[in-house]
Amino acid sequence: MDSPLSKPAVFRFAPSPNGLLHLGHAYSAMLNHNLAMAAGGRFLLRIEDIDTVRCRPEYEEAIYRDLHWLGIEWGRPVRRQSEHFPFYQRALDELIARSLAYPAFLSRAEVRDRVAAFEAVGGTWPRDPDDAPCYPTEERDLDRGLAGGWIAEGRQHAWRLDMDKALEAANEKLAGRSLDWSETGMGPDGETGLVSAQPEHWGDVILSRPDAPSSYHLSVTLDDAAQGVTHVVRGRDLFHATSVHRLLQVLLDLPQPQYRHHGLVLSADGRKLSKSNQDTGILAYREKGLSPADLRALFARDGLVLD
Ligand code: GLU
Repeated sequence: MDSPLSKPAVFRFAPSPNGLLHLGHAYSAMLNHNLAMAAGGRFLLRIEDIDTVRCRPEYEEAIYRDLHWLGIEWGRPVRRQSEHFPFYQRALDELIARSLAYPAFLSRAEVRDRVAAFEAVGGTWPRDPDDAPCYPTEERDLDRGLAGGWIAEGRQHAWRLDMDKALEAANEKLAGRSLDWSETGMGPDGETGLVSAQPEHWGDVILSRPDAPSSYHLSVTLDDAAQGVTHVVRGRDLFHATSVHRLLQVLLDLPQPQYRHHGLVLSADGRKLSKSNQDTGILAYREKGLSPADLRALFARDGLVLD
């Protein structure tokens, strides 16, 4: 396994242009930038725009404007995920060829109905770390000829990872080593140091969406490797997703970055910030006449360090 310490440090900030950046994004970007500069490394910007419906050019423009206002310079060229679909498709094809991925045809409503029916008779449907019901596993062994016919007819489908087969394949590659990562920040339950990955809690995660040959998990993992990212520094809300990313790294023979999950900037009523709340947008602070130094003071007040 590559040691992240032997390479020049590469940090990244990877927002999705599906809304205006909020204070939490400002914190993450400033922290990544500071860490990169302190390490004599690089700070990269990646635009995570595989959701071509919700992502908009005006939000991407706003990202550049906000980062510029924050005094952050980023390495060029900027990687825009929507320009790399064939790259993700190749990795997806490889997982399909190795029988680790299967086409999934159930609609959200069908999944909801199955969960409701199961729970109506007293069962407890497994939920992922984000508290969403895990995808049913019934299509794992669907006849490939039949599924191929449906795809040819144009039936909407996603591709999902067969978690059982993926774990088996990863264990073979790991040959006795455990699936873990080095965490220099902290998870929601205080996890730090060498953290054991538990991708099984996510069930059969999505690898490609009906409208794009990729998913958040697949693109983020492939791009961190393609961009030589050595340090992934991001919000604690993505801590558990790291288990899936580690699994994909092992399956696809990708290097393992170091991880630091940082605390979240919360709203005045203690809730997670959302892009739809314009009041906590970086733009709103700028329009109120605040400076980046004022933002730093706000973070310090919340105990959020910038180094
Ligand atoms: N694009 C993700 C988001 O905006 C962040 C991805 C990551 O940092 O791993 O939440």
